[in-house]
Amino acid sequence: MYLKGVEIYGFKSFGERIRIDFDGGITSIVGPNGSGKSNILDGILWVLGEQSYKNIRAKESKDIIFSGGEGKKPANYAEVSLFIDNRDNFFPIEADSIKITRKMSQNGDNDYLINDKKVRLKDIGELFLDTGVGKSAYSVIGQGKVERIISSSNKEIKSIIEEAAGVKKFQQKKMESEKRLEKVQNELEKIELVLGEIG
Ligand code: ATP
Repeated sequence: MYLKGVEIYGFKSFGERIRIDFDGGITSIVGPNGSGKSNILDGILWVLGEQSYKNIRAKESKDIIFSGGEGKKPANYAEVSLFIDNRDNFFPIEADSIKITRKMSQNGDNDYLINDKKVRLKDIGELFLDTGVGKSAYSVIGQGKVERIISSSNKEIKSIIEEAAGVKKFQQKKMESEKRLEKVQNELEKIELVLGEIG
C-alpha cells in the first residue's frame, strides 16, 4: 500500500485542478514560502476525515475553499482525492487502486466517496482505523507536530503506540458494545418494573 497521488481542486490555494503523483520512495515537495506546500498536507488530512479546522490551519469552512487570486475566480467547492495503491490488499476492498475523495460545497456540506461511491465519514474512519494512516495517526506530521509528540504525556504516547499496534479498533468495538449493553440493561430494568406492577 502506498499513496500514489493526490488530486486537488478548489482547496485552499489550489484554484486549478492539479494532480501530484508520488513514486515509490521519498518525495520532496519544494517551493517558495507560501506557495502551498503545507496546504497539500492539509488536503491529505482533510480527506482522512479531519474535523478540526485548527488542525488544517483554518478558522471556518470558507477558509478551506479557494477564495480567488491571480486572475482566478473563487471556487464553488473544494475537492481532494487520494489515490492509494492497494495491490497488496492492505485495505479490505477488492480493488488494486482506491480513490478516496472529500468534497465540500460553499454551504459547508461534506461528501465522502470511496472509489466514486458516496460513503459516510464513519466508513472512512473505519477503513483507516489501526492502519497507521488515519487522521489521528502519525502518517502526516506537519510543522510543529514533532515537538508536540516529544512533549506529549505518557497517556498520549500510549495512545499513539496503541494505534500503531492495532488495538484501537478493538477498544472502540468494546466501547460500542458496552454502550449497547448499558442500553439493554436499562430496557430490562424498565420491563422488570412494569412486570412488577402487573404482578
Ligand atoms: P511555508 O514554506 O512558509 O511553510 P507553504 O508553501 O507551506 O509555506 P502554505 O502554508 O501551504 O505554504 O500556503 C499558504 C498560502 O495559501 C498563502 O499564500 C495563502 O494565502 C494561501 N491560501 C490559504 N487558504 C486559501 C484560500 N482559501 N484561498 C486562496 N488562497 C489560500
